Amino acid sequence: MSQRDYYEVLGVSRNASEDELKKAYRKLAMKYHPDHNPGDAEAEQKFKEAAEAYDVLRDENKRARYDRFGFAGVQGGGGGFSNADDIFSHFGDIFGDLFGFSQQSGPRATRGADLRYNLTVTFLQAAKGDKVTLSIPRHATCPDCNGSGAAKGTKPERCRHCNGTGQVRRSQGFFQIAMPCPICHGEGKVIVKPCPCCKGEGLVVDTHKLDVHIPPGVDNGTRLRVRGEGEAGTRGGMPGDLYVVINVEEDPRFERHGRDLLHHLEITFVQAALGFRTTVPGIDGDLPLEIPKGVQNGEILQIKEQGMPQLNRETRGDLLIAIHVKTPTHLSAKQEELLREFEKLSEESFLEKAQKKIKQFMGVDDN
Ligand SMILES: [Zn+2]
Ligand SMILES: [Zn+2]
Repeated sequence: MSQRDYYEVLGVSRNASEDELKKAYRKLAMKYHPDHNPGDAEAEQKFKEAAEAYDVLRDENKRARYDRFGFAGVQGGGGGFSNADDIFSHFGDIFGDLFGFSQQSGPRATRGADLRYNLTVTFLQAAKGDKVTLSIPRHATCPDCNGSGAAKGTKPERCRHCNGTGQVRRSQGFFQIAMPCPICHGEGKVIVKPCPCCKGEGLVVDTHKLDVHIPPGVDNGTRLRVRGEGEAGTRGGMPGDLYVVINVEEDPRFERHGRDLLHHLEITFVQAALGFRTTVPGIDGDLPLEIPKGVQNGEILQIKEQGMPQLNRETRGDLLIAIHVKTPTHLSAKQEELLREFEKLSEESFLEKAQKKIKQFMGVDDN
């Protein structure tokens, strides 16, 4: 296989700046890195080719020799790789950037974990909103060792397994892959005498009080995100977020249907027939309601905008009143007598109406 021109390999012009070379190489190294292309021989070849091209072009002297004499100017002398170790030893800085751990600076800052807090609120808290104080257990930096994890008077020592770099190299075919050190887990340091307070973790559990605003209109499963109130990050990493997950208690007076509320109201058949004024429960207290004359069983009356507020909106649903007409079961003799009388009157009036109709009908027929 004939060797490709180094500039062509990196896809840059012959007068590319150091920065352009680096950028081009990073892109290719990312694309063809054996970690991302396991078992792909072609990617491995491309990766090696790019590494070699970059190794020559990044070096002023080698680049000058290459520009003048081509491959002959750099091979045997300084260019070319005898084994994969060379590739990695030259590009520690770049791989440190690419794969999250660097050879020199040890482990990176990590963002703290997100926390979930299940909060049960009453129906009225959900409807009207409230401020709730939460007690949140979470990890905080150990005050005894200041987070180092080492007992007082001692210090974490350099890891001998990785020589303090936090990473070890593992061979994979032609290549060597940098891995976090299994002994110090990438820390580069090991704790010889752990802090008794945090058992060497550097973190302790502490309970933290936090006021959380519950907006009106929350429902079961509503998640409220409180930024930065999760677990602390390590080594200056950002803290995680706190997610408050809402569970709303039921209220026997209301059935929630999205933003509308349904209230069941039992009335007597006399009340249904005659109509009356009453009050029904609402979120903000009792509400007056006029039951119209002749309301039917199962009818639903509507009180506009007295339902549930909509989360993060100004609008509210409606309060719906379902009418349940109760039929009396135990009547006194007097009540029964009156009802029979009532029925007779109803029948009579029915008969009268029927007779009128018949007369009208006959009259029409006469003409
Ligand atoms: Zn180590
Ligand atoms: Zn400690």
